[in-house]
Amino acid sequence: MLRESAIADLPADLRWLYESGAVTIEQLAAIHAGLGPTSAADLLTHVRRHAIQRLPGFNPDIEAAVAAALPGLRATIPRIPLGRAVAIADSILACLHDSPGIESATPVGSLRRGHDMIGDIEIVAPAVDPAAAFDRLIQLPDVVRTLHRGDRRLYLLIDRVQVGVRCPMPAAAGATLLHFTGSTAHTDALRRLAAERGWSLEPEGLARGDGTPPTTDPEEAIYAALGLPWIPPEIREGTDEIDAARTGSLPVLVVRSDIRGDLHMHTEWSDGRDSIEAMVRACAALGYEYLAITDHSPHSAATRNLSADGARRQGEEIDALRERYPQLTILHGCEVDILPTGRLDFTDRVLERFDIVLASLHERAGQSADQLFQRYLAAMRHPLVTMITHPTNRQIPHRKGYDLDYQRLFAAAAQSGTAVEVDGAPAHLDLNGALARQAIAAGATISIDSDSHRAETLGGQMDMGILMARHGWVEPRHVLNTRPIEEVRALVAAKRGT
Ligand SMILES: [Zn+2]
Ligand SMILES: [Zn+2]
Repeated sequence: MLRESAIADLPADLRWLYESGAVTIEQLAAIHAGLGPTSAADLLTHVRRHAIQRLPGFNPDIEAAVAAALPGLRATIPRIPLGRAVAIADSILACLHDSPGIESATPVGSLRRGHDMIGDIEIVAPAVDPAAAFDRLIQLPDVVRTLHRGDRRLYLLIDRVQVGVRCPMPAAAGATLLHFTGSTAHTDALRRLAAERGWSLEPEGLARGDGTPPTTDPEEAIYAALGLPWIPPEIREGTDEIDAARTGSLPVLVVRSDIRGDLHMHTEWSDGRDSIEAMVRACAALGYEYLAITDHSPHSAATRNLSADGARRQGEEIDALRERYPQLTILHGCEVDILPTGRLDFTDRVLERFDIVLASLHERAGQSADQLFQRYLAAMRHPLVTMITHPTNRQIPHRKGYDLDYQRLFAAAAQSGTAVEVDGAPAHLDLNGALARQAIAAGATISIDSDSHRAETLGGQMDMGILMARHGWVEPRHVLNTRPIEEVRALVAAKRGT
């Protein structure tokens, strides 16, 4: 009899098979010995190929038990917030990018697909010989333990999260990326397209079964062989993206270079860490044409807030900076709280002096979903309000978003000419992709912002917002801050009726 300690170092996904009762410790050890380190995605592949029943001492019943356990396994993989996953993956990616022999390094799975909560962190890094890169990776200071090291696969434990690195031969990189990016529903749909032609799509590539070499790289070539354009990973959910690809109606998703400015950030005037000038300088370095400084109003729950008098003095500081940074348009804005009554937390006389007004709920105040909805509605009807920030007001991982009728909310936003935000701060990621897609379908304008509280996070948080938006099929034409500053001012003015 083996003890549990014999499997303690196996990848968590594999260990779970034992913990769920699907296999014994001996069987689990045999799966590991015969098939190598195994994530949930690998297990699915092995089951499909009947590789488990062919292991010595195994039979179809054991394989069926593994197959039956898989949906539960997916459900038990602890999801970690995107921000944390990106932070963990970034150190691995940086190390891979400057390791000899590594051609490229791309996160796969839900991270590449732009989900806000991430299951496995897996990275695909094509290399002829990854040994030197693996030597470096296992020395990284964040690595708690090396869970497994094979010739082409490395599993590391970083801050209680399992991180997998796969290094296919460069000639097979596209097929590996495609397979491990998923989603399962998307690759299943591609597999059906291949089967219609009498071909088979495997993790190693697209095989025609006629003696010709399989199509393995790049991803584009595999899609092309199936008669499709390349489909962006963020929309590979197996819903309607393959139909869109077939009919030539794939969205042209927003990218970082489309973004001309950031309309939501905080400074030391409220709960931000940095000065206005530090934020302005960082925005200039990011190549923006404009930015808006948007500190909190007096009753927000933030640790420090802007008073009406503070707003006036802040305006003077911004005026001085405008002279020193003529290449950038600096908008003086605020993020004003929508009070429980639906009124705004600055008087109209104060608000109308701002170039742009963002409105938000920061606390529920014990109200029902309908009361919260009415608060939003009151703010959106206010002519001085240009945008609703982080509309669900969730706080990852502590607080779920409000359970509102978002369909109605987005329709009201569209009707009132109020933009809704995709906020890229890791605690918000709000709207997420699914809601952003609903918002644009309702005709609402999206603003993708960093909501950054320090200069150094402006770029990274904008990127996370863009990832959410891409997952929501958002194109540059849907986005306020892809437009020149004159058009942003025009949208503000149109609503103000000036
Ligand atoms: Zn806020
Ligand atoms: Zn904010």
